Amino acid sequence: MILLLALLPDSVLVGLMGGSPISSAVVKAGGKTYRIKAKGGRLIVNGVKKKGFKLKNVRFVSPIKGDYKGVMLFVPRGNSFYVINKLPLNEYIASVIASEMGDAPLEALKAQAVLARTFVMRWGKRHGRFHACDRDHCQRYEGVKRVKSVHRVAVKRTSREILTYRGRPVEVLYHASCGGWVCEPKYVWRRGKHLPYFWTGEDSDCFADEHLKYTWKVYAPLKTCPKVKRIPGSLRVYMMLVGRDTLYAYDIRRRFNLPSTVFAYWCTRTGVIFLGTGRGHGVGMCQRGAILKAKKGWNYKEILEFYYRGATIRKAGR
Ligand SMILES: [Zn+2]
Ligand SMILES: [Zn+2]
Repeated sequence: MILLLALLPDSVLVGLMGGSPISSAVVKAGGKTYRIKAKGGRLIVNGVKKKGFKLKNVRFVSPIKGDYKGVMLFVPRGNSFYVINKLPLNEYIASVIASEMGDAPLEALKAQAVLARTFVMRWGKRHGRFHACDRDHCQRYEGVKRVKSVHRVAVKRTSREILTYRGRPVEVLYHASCGGWVCEPKYVWRRGKHLPYFWTGEDSDCFADEHLKYTWKVYAPLKTCPKVKRIPGSLRVYMMLVGRDTLYAYDIRRRFNLPSTVFAYWCTRTGVIFLGTGRGHGVGMCQRGAILKAKKGWNYKEILEFYYRGATIRKAGR
């Protein structure tokens, strides 16, 4: 079934440097080097003032590094400028899955491709003037750096496919490794939305993989020993009481710089030692779990349906 109302764009605009304006850049294109700055709402390219500027197929020297396909737009704002990459949707998806997963089994990459495309569909121009930034806030995008033929194959074999629930694109959430337990948004964010396809429970492939194998250790100086609440039946912490403060999972990770909230801990006289496993918030698709499942022979539909219960893949219109 084709979703008639939902149209995928042919090309995507990506704001580099996290979508923030920068003050200078050195770029190479077509054998030439360009030094770009901005002043009073105008660009200065190799000493010449311009209203706007664009280049094709560039190689960034600084502060960004690496090769980018498509058109690079430099849009002035005061004494700085935005760097916006316009490229075909499929090129963007290939780069996102390469940046997010690197070398991985094809079925896991296909699952990631469907999610990357669903993200564009759900958010449209999330940043106003562009669809996405190049960081974790949206989806990691590092140009052509890590793109290989397997990534293009994953994009092609999932052409126009997006993940939907009751006819609407799902909320795209994924993380590097659940450490054995995935969870619903309410266990991560204080006002985490209830969405029926997310669930809380064991990701048995990751549990077997990570079980009691603590992969990271963090020490935090702290005067009082915190108390934690764990999701019943799991090691995942969703709340922490530190003195008078109540922290939710997302804030616990930020406050103590923890890769995940699957951890054991103990207090010393001067602080807390956290020993944990997993990386990321634990909601939606677990990239580590997707890879383990693909290696076991699951296909991308089975992988997506495992992490997004009741969701279905559909072809978006164009
Ligand atoms: Zn963003
Ligand atoms: Zn997992």
